[in-house]
Amino acid sequence: MTNKKQYKNLIAGKLCPAISGKKLDVISPSDGLSFASIPESSKRDIDLAVRAARHAYEKGAWGKMSATERGRILLKFSFLIEKHKNELAELEAKDTGKILSQAKSDIAGLARYFEFYGGAADKMHGDTIPMKGDFLALTLREPHGVVAGIIPWNYPSKILGRVIGAALDMGNSLVIKPAEDACLSVLRVGELSIIAGVPDGVLNIVAGTGIEAGAALSSHKDVDFISFTDSPITGTIIQQTAAKNNRGVTMELGGKSAQVVFADADLEKALPVIVSGIIHNSGQVCSAGSRVLIEQSIYDEFINKLATKFKELVAGPHDADFDLGALISQKQLKIVNAFIEQAKQENLELLATGKIANNDPKSGNYIAPHLFSNVPAKSDLAQKEIFGPVLCAFPFKDEEDAIKLANNTEFGLISSVWSNDGARQIRVAKKIRAGQIFINSYGAGDGNELPFGGCKKSGFGREKGLEGLYEMSAIKTIIFNHS
Ligand code: NAD
Repeated sequence: MTNKKQYKNLIAGKLCPAISGKKLDVISPSDGLSFASIPESSKRDIDLAVRAARHAYEKGAWGKMSATERGRILLKFSFLIEKHKNELAELEAKDTGKILSQAKSDIAGLARYFEFYGGAADKMHGDTIPMKGDFLALTLREPHGVVAGIIPWNYPSKILGRVIGAALDMGNSLVIKPAEDACLSVLRVGELSIIAGVPDGVLNIVAGTGIEAGAALSSHKDVDFISFTDSPITGTIIQQTAAKNNRGVTMELGGKSAQVVFADADLEKALPVIVSGIIHNSGQVCSAGSRVLIEQSIYDEFINKLATKFKELVAGPHDADFDLGALISQKQLKIVNAFIEQAKQENLELLATGKIANNDPKSGNYIAPHLFSNVPAKSDLAQKEIFGPVLCAFPFKDEEDAIKLANNTEFGLISSVWSNDGARQIRVAKKIRAGQIFINSYGAGDGNELPFGGCKKSGFGREKGLEGLYEMSAIKTIIFNHS
């Protein structure tokens, strides 16, 4: 018990416990055992962090630094993440339950964000605008000021990278509230930021519950902009709060993404990618490919291949590197199991399930992958974000039907088109309402360079790539009269 590491907040460049001294236990999803603690911060801690961020932004060295210097700090940060990659990956896997190979790839993604944004820092600039008469206008791309980042538990390190990489790059200061269910890698990255040379107060990280620390941050009157990734329900609450303060937000709120497989596709190539699209991170992915739409003429052939593959899949402890790890929490396990139970009650066709490893610790949050076939398009299974390794399959008649089914949810985050017909690839990609469409692949590569975000209930605004920098800045227009 006494050996448990006590993680600390980062406020004004100092590591500190919650002012109240309160802590939250950190439970490993793989075995249900507590192995560390995090501060249970309150409004007072958030207030201190926002004040530190405001001071660093207005008065500190940050505002005076050139974009090139900011970029160099980010590059040093990237190098440090690389240097600590094994330690960070092990921490991430233990904290989230994700398999170690995937945690390693997440940490590589975090380092890559700092590398990408470090390199971009001094390449962002405004425009000159020609005007009639004796006028000329130019635009400056300026930081928002103090940015709040509310980070989810499914990809703590990677999502931290995209938020703080872009925000720091543009010269903002930040207060980060990581999710109470998984925040150790975020707090550890905070420690490394001191070594990287991020000036005191520019990056503040405050752990605690959403209801207390999260709500205090998103409603804080001295926060200029909010980046939020998580559920639509909490996203709506935060939008309402931000509206009261007239603050800007980006909202990344999940999806029910479709992988559309036409009869002319390379099915051997599609099969492992479609499976990976739903078991990656145990399906706890906003962009999980949770619906597979298969052209009627190949439906039986392809669904049987998928079923064979599903039966081979194994969920197990993060350090044993099976196909998938544990779900984040008992709460999430209950949510996913409730969807499966409801589908069974509705007599939906459960075609295949994977296995849970024999040596799993019985108190871990494991769930075997499930494949449902011929799922009615209106059912909850086909419409709601499950956030677990549950794949719904449907047949479609033709291209028009495929597009209609793909668009037939409240969400619009990502999608894929599997076909060897080039004209069809473009036609279908243009008609599916989503922020990102993959052709003959899914979630390809790490994609730090690719703008990401959704439409409809999936939210708005774009993160990642250069678009992420535009979101983390605002344009000021200056007009000269040179008569
Ligand atoms: P939650 O809404 O309880 O918490 C989400 C995050 O928001 C946490 O970081 C929490 O601390 C914070 N939060 C909660 N209330 C807040 C408030 N009033 N103000 C500011 N921050 C607040 O969500 P959950 O129970 O962890 O997950 C519920 C569902 O969310 C999941 O089942 C899944 O469908 C979805 N989810 C989506 C993503 C994504 O990447 N889009 C990630 C994780 C979870």
